[in-house]
Formats: sequence, structure tokens, C-alpha cells
Amino acid sequence: MIQDILDIKPTDSFQDMCDRMAAFLGMKTRIPENAMRRAIQDPDFANDLITCRNAPDFLEALLDDPGNDHYAEPEAEAAKITNTELLKKASGALLRWSKAGFSTVDEEVLETRENACLGCEYISKPETMLQKLVTSKSKAQIGKRVADCVCKLCGCSLSKKIRLPSEACPAVHPKNQELNRWSEPIGKTG
Ligand code: SF4
Repeated sequence: MIQDILDIKPTDSFQDMCDRMAAFLGMKTRIPENAMRRAIQDPDFANDLITCRNAPDFLEALLDDPGNDHYAEPEAEAAKITNTELLKKASGALLRWSKAGFSTVDEEVLETRENACLGCEYISKPETMLQKLVTSKSKAQIGKRVADCVCKLCGCSLSKKIRLPSEACPAVHPKNQELNRWSEPIGKTG
């Protein structure tokens, strides 16, 4: 799949790239061009997309972000930048992302990590989110229960942190000094 989106041909259009990116992210419809342009230029946004891969609700929120409008192509610029140049830029960005690690953890690991965070005293939940967690239907949806929550120890957004194989819980397991609170060996990443 990664090769599919990296294998860009001069005859491809920017829309083709948006289609391939959508397939890679697990979306059924083409991703908006403004979002694709933003992903190429903003590594944090690209990282957010990748960590929310196969999580349609999160992806839709990112793809509909009003901030993407800043990446609409000005007409003057459009005239200057050829399709080939745009694709070249996109392929460079995708290559960098693939080197940074395109993967996310499987559902089982995601659930274990999320359960641990939900029972941990270091989780920080805004009041409104706490209420939402109690009442919302999304309570049962793995990976979404820690939406908007932050780890007080590392300051990370938990909905992203728990998805990445390269991330580790910073706290020692209360019953096993060799494990962290996600029940993963301390020092293990990747
Ligand atoms: S990452 Fe670890 S320390 Fe942070 S909230 Fe989750 S379980 Fe607690």
C-alpha cells in the first residue's frame, strides 16, 4: 500500500494522489485537495492523519478542519507550479512519512493501552469530556474513549500516543517494575 502511494508517475494527476492517500488512510472517498496540500507542507498535520489512519471519525474532523482552507491554491501560484512539481513535492513528503514509520498498533494493543490510560491517575480529562465519557455512545469505541485526554506525565495527546508503536507509557506498572502501565516492557519502542 505504501508503495502504491509512493509510485507516482508523471502522467498522474494531483487528484490521483488524493485518491491514493484516501485509500492509504482507509477513507472511501477522495481526500480534499486543500487537506492534501496541507499534509505536504505541515508535518504535524501529516502525522495527525497517519496516526488517525483507519479511524474515520477522527480523519473526517482533520479533513474538515477550517485550517485547511489556508492551503487553497492561489490562482497565481497555480499557474507557476506544474502538476509534475506538485507531485514531486507530494512524493517527497510521502517518502519522509514512510521513513518516519507509517504503522499504527493493532486493535488489541490499542484497547489494552486505552484501558490502562482510562484507569490511570495521570490521565487529564477536561470536565466536559469526563461527562461525555460517561454518557456518550463513543464510550464503547476503542481508540475514541481518550479523545481530548492528555497524559500529565509526558503531556502527550493520548488518542494519538496510544496508536503509535514507537510510543511508550512513561509510568512504571504498579505490580511489575519491568513493565510500564500499558503492560509493555520498559524501554521497548517500535
Ligand atoms: S500514558 Fe501511561 S502514565 Fe500516561 S495516562 Fe496513560 S497509562 Fe497513565
